[in-house]
Amino acid sequence: MSQDIGHIVAEIRNIVGHEWASSDPEIVYAYSREANLYPEHLRSTMRPPLCVALPGTTEEVQKIIAIARARAMPITLQTTGLNVSGVCIPLRGGILMDLKRMDQIIEIDEENLTATLQPYVSIARLSCELQKRGMYIPVPGNPSTASIVSNIIIGLGLKVTNKVGRQEKGIVGFRMVLPDGSLFKVGSGADTFIQKNFWPHGPGPDLHLLPVHAMGSTGIVTEMTIKCWLRGEQYKEFWVSYEDIDAAGEAFRELSRMEIAKGLNLYGGNKYSSYFTDTREAMERMVRANPEFQLIVSLEGTKRQIEYEEKLIRGVAEKTGGRIITDKFPPYESFVESHAGMSGSFYSDYSMRYWGSRGANWVIAGFPSPDRFAEMYKAYTEALLADPDLADPDFGHAEFWRSTIAYPFEGGHYFFAEFGLDSHPGEPRWQEIIRRVGAALPRYCAQKGFVVIAFNRAPREGMPDILGPYFDLAKKVRDGLDPEGIMQPGGIFQ
Ligand SMILES: Cc1cc2nc3c(=O)[nH]c(=O)nc-3n(C[C@H](O)[C@H](O)[C@H](O)COP(=O)(O)OP(=O)(O)OC[C@H]3O[C@@H](n4cnc5c(N)ncnc54)[C@H](O)[C@@H]3O)c2cc1C
Repeated sequence: MSQDIGHIVAEIRNIVGHEWASSDPEIVYAYSREANLYPEHLRSTMRPPLCVALPGTTEEVQKIIAIARARAMPITLQTTGLNVSGVCIPLRGGILMDLKRMDQIIEIDEENLTATLQPYVSIARLSCELQKRGMYIPVPGNPSTASIVSNIIIGLGLKVTNKVGRQEKGIVGFRMVLPDGSLFKVGSGADTFIQKNFWPHGPGPDLHLLPVHAMGSTGIVTEMTIKCWLRGEQYKEFWVSYEDIDAAGEAFRELSRMEIAKGLNLYGGNKYSSYFTDTREAMERMVRANPEFQLIVSLEGTKRQIEYEEKLIRGVAEKTGGRIITDKFPPYESFVESHAGMSGSFYSDYSMRYWGSRGANWVIAGFPSPDRFAEMYKAYTEALLADPDLADPDFGHAEFWRSTIAYPFEGGHYFFAEFGLDSHPGEPRWQEIIRRVGAALPRYCAQKGFVVIAFNRAPREGMPDILGPYFDLAKKVRDGLDPEGIMQPGGIFQ
């Protein structure tokens, strides 16, 4: 294969230019991992590709796919490589296609409130451009250096705002190179008479979510148009604190249903404290000083709208016994701005630090009605306490180490909850505990009527069983579009 790989690289260089393809060991080694910061996990999953190719245009993507098909070589995609689930690790070797050269903001359409992007445009870059125009996009809490397109495709859409909803709802249209190398367009831009993506309805059946969570298996998106929103005149932030889960849950439910507030999050004290601290000791001190639960409500709009929403929030806080701590301690301006503009995002360095130093492990369960939050949190705690290590007071106990953030969206019709179990990744027993709990939780929660849709850094045993026929159909779609199995679709489709 080594001689053959030399030929393949030469063919790819003819397409992309000499400096944009390589099989040098130093270069391919750099593509053998993703952003997961857990050393043990890294060692067990690292796998270099045979060669790396950086196409600069859609046509170049098509030509590289033709080369891969002719040799039945798998293609793995990477943009910013910041996913944390191993999707961009080239498990089957083959070609690693890095989309970094495709980094243009093609258009910001202020009239239709859309932006058209190539895949390597980062959240930070577009957000800066939009800010100059009084516009924004809601983004989750991942590093702002991550690609918007891949975040929409593989992200979990967390921390979306209550008003705007999940990120993928923002897809207006895209161009995608299918695994057979043909070009496919979705959205009004695909209509011969319209030819511009200003709304998501194309000429045929609605396929505008086709790449979402398909892990690249349905094709390579080379351009995407997304919705943008206008910023409000003013912001205001309320933090309402509770010691009791039932009272916090009731306030959360009532506020979710009022269809007010741009952002509305319910934090467990542990989760909330860990965002602001560097060390485990500092976090523990802060957890003890903080309330058990904190509702963070971000308002954005006209002065009149904010006055009206404030009245409702104060009413709910009074009724449920919540203390509005921002009346005494005004939050930092930057926090308000970030929270209102980017929903729950606390800027990149917070999330990188948090992810790296604390070793949060998430169970993400969705999307029942907000009425069930308190019940869910109690069931989650019960599941953790059933684990012998987590119930051991010498080691740590689940009541303290569990964490949560819950976000309602689409006017409180749904909510999304992250449940975490935090420790330091260097803790020797931690890997073992996480594996065990990670395997047990999906089944436990399914019995209770909740769905665990991700558990980072732990084996996802049982996932296909839980997804059942849904998963089978997803595989049929994948197999239909990619019968030769060219696209590397990440763990779940293996
Ligand atoms: C500290 C931290 C916090 C995070 N917090 C959150 C969070 O709050 N919410 C959340 O949703 N995510 C979160 N994430 C994960 C997040 O999903 C990724 O950071 C990022 O969005 C993935 O984009 P990427 O460019 O890094 O993808 P990459 O790792 O480069 O690519 C991953 C995969 O996406 C697919 N893909 C990428 N580009 C394309 C394309 N153009 N066409 C088709 N398929 C494509 C491919 O399967 C590819 O292998 C977090 C990550 C980190 C490191």
